[in-house]
Amino acid sequence: MSVSWMSPTDRSVKIADLEANPTCGAGIVGLRRMLRLVACGLLFALAVATGGLLALAEGALDLPPQAAIDADVLLKEGLIYDGSGDEPFRGSVAIRGDRIVAVGTFPVGRIKMAVDCSGLVISPGFIDLHNHSDKQMIDRRTRANTNYLTQGCTTIVTGNCGAGPIEVAKYYNQIDVDGAGTNVLHLVPHGALRARVVGTAYRAASSDDIAAMQGLARQAMREGAWGLSSGLIYVPSSYASTDELVQIARVVGDYGGLYASHIRDEGASLLAAIDEALEVGQRAEVPVHISHFKASGRDAWGLVRRATDMIERSRELGQTVTADQYPYTALSTSLEATIIPPWARAGGHDAINARLSDPLRAARIRGAMIDALGDRDDGAMLRLARFDSKPEWVGKSLTEIAADRKSDVLEVATYIVQQGSAMIVEFSMNEDDVRYVMRQPWVATASDGRAYVPDGDKPHPRSYGTFSRKVGYYARQEGVIGVSAAIRSCTGLPADILHLTDRGYIRPGQAADLAVLDLEKFIDLATYDEPHQYSEGVVHVFVNGRAAIFQAQLTGILAGRAIRKKSPQSKPQKPIGVIGGGGGEE
Ligand SMILES: [Zn+2]
Repeated sequence: MSVSWMSPTDRSVKIADLEANPTCGAGIVGLRRMLRLVACGLLFALAVATGGLLALAEGALDLPPQAAIDADVLLKEGLIYDGSGDEPFRGSVAIRGDRIVAVGTFPVGRIKMAVDCSGLVISPGFIDLHNHSDKQMIDRRTRANTNYLTQGCTTIVTGNCGAGPIEVAKYYNQIDVDGAGTNVLHLVPHGALRARVVGTAYRAASSDDIAAMQGLARQAMREGAWGLSSGLIYVPSSYASTDELVQIARVVGDYGGLYASHIRDEGASLLAAIDEALEVGQRAEVPVHISHFKASGRDAWGLVRRATDMIERSRELGQTVTADQYPYTALSTSLEATIIPPWARAGGHDAINARLSDPLRAARIRGAMIDALGDRDDGAMLRLARFDSKPEWVGKSLTEIAADRKSDVLEVATYIVQQGSAMIVEFSMNEDDVRYVMRQPWVATASDGRAYVPDGDKPHPRSYGTFSRKVGYYARQEGVIGVSAAIRSCTGLPADILHLTDRGYIRPGQAADLAVLDLEKFIDLATYDEPHQYSEGVVHVFVNGRAAIFQAQLTGILAGRAIRKKSPQSKPQKPIGVIGGGGGEE
């Protein structure tokens, strides 16, 4: 348990005019402010001497008459879940410009707009640690990111699974110039580094190659990336040795970044894959983050418990290890990555097709495909999510398509691979495992989805419903975890994992990224059959102090920004995942 600074009721911060009194230490303006600073200093000494901390702080800081809070927006009298995982408390949130300036109960001055939040929940805007909108956030059609705003999301992290842009400054600038519905943070993707330096050939990287990848990673970190991602089932990230990952991750660690991994295997070899991720973290001395933590395939069901034990043990030994999860029992990826072995995917689509028309190699590939399909109920577990060549097949399983065509599943699968770029949804997880992973306090909520405008595809519903499903279904309806913990897994926890210090919490000084929810109605509506359904129950969303959703209506305002990581930051003082711990502006 961590120390709670104030009881939930005391949390009604009566001293919270942060701009008048930022952190007991910034520049001095005027006598009154100086008095406050003196009070602050005395208080701190007293608190240290007595260990009494802020129980005293509150009383002492009450001494100077409280200044009334002027605000552009006052979210009035809601139930505040502040992102720490503590119980909620009643109060208001004042926004000035793009910052939160007061939280709780405080005298108000001039208010430009008051928003009645009685009966509603005020939460930090949700942070999606694992998002694939790298192209969508710089595309006019999708950059508003409405399927995330409507879940209460205000920030997404791109560059995941080893894929995405490596020219970080250019990417960030484009977002800032054109605008975006949500904020965007970016990880430097290992697969793209390797594609640039080594290409997609199936070979080890030379020391020169590694130096070149390190150089690109260093540049990306200087331009404000937040860490390195790997996608160890995808070509060419999958061709990297553990050593290669360690050497590149070390560079990222120099800049205070983390190593986020789509690990090498989420099936029967899950434990070996977790072990590799932990090793990269230990040897490179970087925080390790396991992306979309799961056990996939019947052979692997239950292994998440042992993987959790391994992670717990490493955490007890002082290693920083965290994970994220989307709250569904199906995954989604490309058909190729699912049924074609990595060696056969070298060189990209044309090379795959060349191998498929070479009898010897084709026989080997088809053998692997038969095994992969066999593990998936002969294709019944694989449903096409996108297939441009035959959109009428989308939404059907490979088994259904084969039956319709009076064909063989292997023939259908081969045809789809030959046409290329098919995405699938695979029903491969166990509900108990999903719930078990969700209960771990170091597991954040993350979607693994992307921005969409409704079209003919049937993507995984996670792009529309991850956060509303976690809070609305799993926490509120099913009680798998408490609502406070669920909200923390979407807010303060991902901020702590990223070392993103000014978002994820409702505290004075934090960015005004806020979601106002009708908690009783907050739920996902997107399903596998009808995925393009916005979530319900989000009443208002503020991104950098501006309303992106107001009274349940999208405003069309593009208030999101590229968020650049600044200088290297020290490692966290307490283990991430502890309720009430970490982050914030302290
Ligand atoms: Zn992934």
